[in-house]
Amino acid sequence: MTLAPVAGSTATTVRARFEVTGVVQGVGFRPHVHRLARRHHLTGWVSNTDHGVSLEVQGQPAAIERFTHELAADAPPLASISTWAKTQRPAQPGTTFEIRASETGRAPTLAVPPDVAACAACLDELHDPTNRRYRHPFISCTDCGPRTTIVTGLPFDRSRTSMADFELCGACRAEYRDVDSRRHHAQTIACPDCGPTVSFHRSGPTTTRRRTLHAAIDAARRALGCGEIVAVKGIGGFHLVADATSDATLARLRERKGRPDKPLAVMIPDLATARLLASLTPAAEVALTSPTRPVVIVPARPGTELSGRIAPGLDTIGLLLPSSPLQHLLFEPGSATDRSLPALVCTSGNRSGQPMVIDDAAARRLLGPIADAMCSHDRTIHIACDDSVVQPVGNDVVVHRRGKGLAPQPVHLPFPVPAVLALGGDLKNTFCLASGRDALLSQPIGDLADERAQQAWRDGGRAAAERHGIEPTAIAIDAHPGYHSARLGRLLGRNLNCPVLTVQHHHAHLAALLVEHEVDASTPVIGAVFDGTGYGTDGTLWGGEFLVGGYAAAPRRAGLAAVPLPGGTAAIRAPWRMALSHLLAAGVDTAGLPAPGQASAVERDIVLQQAARGMHSPPTSSMGRLFDAVASLLDVCHEITYEAQAAIELEALARTATATAPPLRFEHHRDGVVGAGELVRGLVDGLRSGADPAGLALAFHQAVAAMVASTACRLRTEAPQLTSVGLSGGVFQNALLSELTVEALTAERFRVLRHRDIPANDGGIALGQAAVAGYRLQHGADRQTERSST
Ligand SMILES: [Zn+2]
Ligand SMILES: [Zn+2]
Repeated sequence: MTLAPVAGSTATTVRARFEVTGVVQGVGFRPHVHRLARRHHLTGWVSNTDHGVSLEVQGQPAAIERFTHELAADAPPLASISTWAKTQRPAQPGTTFEIRASETGRAPTLAVPPDVAACAACLDELHDPTNRRYRHPFISCTDCGPRTTIVTGLPFDRSRTSMADFELCGACRAEYRDVDSRRHHAQTIACPDCGPTVSFHRSGPTTTRRRTLHAAIDAARRALGCGEIVAVKGIGGFHLVADATSDATLARLRERKGRPDKPLAVMIPDLATARLLASLTPAAEVALTSPTRPVVIVPARPGTELSGRIAPGLDTIGLLLPSSPLQHLLFEPGSATDRSLPALVCTSGNRSGQPMVIDDAAARRLLGPIADAMCSHDRTIHIACDDSVVQPVGNDVVVHRRGKGLAPQPVHLPFPVPAVLALGGDLKNTFCLASGRDALLSQPIGDLADERAQQAWRDGGRAAAERHGIEPTAIAIDAHPGYHSARLGRLLGRNLNCPVLTVQHHHAHLAALLVEHEVDASTPVIGAVFDGTGYGTDGTLWGGEFLVGGYAAAPRRAGLAAVPLPGGTAAIRAPWRMALSHLLAAGVDTAGLPAPGQASAVERDIVLQQAARGMHSPPTSSMGRLFDAVASLLDVCHEITYEAQAAIELEALARTATATAPPLRFEHHRDGVVGAGELVRGLVDGLRSGADPAGLALAFHQAVAAMVASTACRLRTEAPQLTSVGLSGGVFQNALLSELTVEALTAERFRVLRHRDIPANDGGIALGQAAVAGYRLQHGADRQTERSST
């Protein structure tokens, strides 16, 4: 667009106004505009607003053209522009360009700047003895530093962050004002003279506190070197940090945390160390070094220095690089006599299922019994946000946990919705606030069965609504009558006097996937949604379902045959119970098999009777439970101590297969029901004839993939417009299964949708709930409250 000269000004002076939305605050966007304006000799101003950035520039038409091009083309690396509009304005007198104070009180926004790992320029300064921020643990600039977790309100300005507690010194203020400085209008900057301080405390009766920054960090590093466990305050909360090469230390950590088997993330100082510990693809290296600094799950190399207690039974390891300058300094000896640590376990500072601890008092109370010491600082964390977890699968990097650096980024909805707050599920809870075409999927909250997670939910939900200035007009919840999230949602609906809509669990999974792929509301798809448990429309426990439809509705068209879940939740913790249930359903004699051998004869008889008579044994069509049963049948895992442990270990075993076992098969019944009896009998025959368990584990994965493809083909025969298959639910976090299923479906010429940015597990369902509820409200399909979804 070319602007016409403005009447009343000189013939060649024009003025233009820009409204920019997206992630444009706290990412150096205003300084970028300022520098561009100066480069092109333009006058005017730029300002943060509630919905993004507004600016006006005035000068020669050609200069404004170049400015317009460079505004987006040369935007700062962390900025992400969603929309921008340019309008002509009358020219005004003026000779300068200025960054104005933020405008507030306008339309709400969902864009919050993400937390960003220390950038390369800041790290160079951190290591430069002549720099005034040498070894300063709070070094940051417009390109890096904490954002989301320290924000109290928007627009993003220092006064609305935890940094408001620290007044800039003269030198920092000069940089803040200098248009040529990397710290021009950087809201989080600090230095040793004006910034936060670090403290080191020892647990127990004798409390020592180091008063200077460097003494505290040195003390923490020495404690780690001596095999101690240190609670270290990071960006989104405390981590428990320990020497990753020490068996004794990790045994202590696991015992104190009550976490015998769940894999522990390992922080390494640099990419070179990561390459020694794991096989990294280019995609894995990009993920590791991204500004989000997620935990990246990669194939572990055998025979490294790392303790065997990091990921027992698994062939993968979760690695992460330091994100805060303080974490960098933990690896860097203060003196030549210090021992440098090659790798540190860096696991969330919380009790299982609870949100991350963010303040010192809670850290002393909750982490004191686990940690030997604590390394903290006095910059307040406002929002607990766990590290993101990703895994390279094929050519994609798949997000398993959308936490630090990712959670605040709005998800674009394929249609506009009224303001909806969706409460997600009970495990891996996240909530979703959607309005217009944007949806904000929250950081992980924890497991809502836990009181502290519920409190964090109340705080987080309120803070989010306040921060974004959005008042929900409807609430969306899971259909499970016993879910805490559903109870909280009903309560909230009453308090806000707004309708509460229920969305069936697997429909929400599928809808989240459709949003992620921007599938519009008129395109029906086949959804293979496999997980542990979700409440079905018939009141039974679903988990191996084929749904067909879209946002409005997606009824079940096929699925696994239900088998008893003997003992209810007890069967979830004990895969051997599910193995017995499937053996019974398949009519197989249990004698001599490893799974029944896990229990006493009495226990075994009780479970078999429970299953046979349906006592305390709700029927379930769960694919997650079938993975459990097979893991136990193959003697991989009989009792679990963390979610999905049996399936994760079964996948690891399948990857070691060197020989192929005879194929296993599901039975397809005419009504869409898929039986596992023949498959279970095939597995037992294989075991009894001495087949390699790894080969059988692989054959099982292949059978599930083939079953998805054949079921999808059958559904397409009935309705030829069904050309896309979506894969969702926690079972598809299994990278091997996911790859095999994509292969099988592609061979049948299906378009395959699978999760990439939104978790396949319950961390993603709040987004799907918001989309389904929003769609129904928008289309008048569901004006009444509490109607179920499929
Ligand atoms: Zn920086
Ligand atoms: Zn300063």
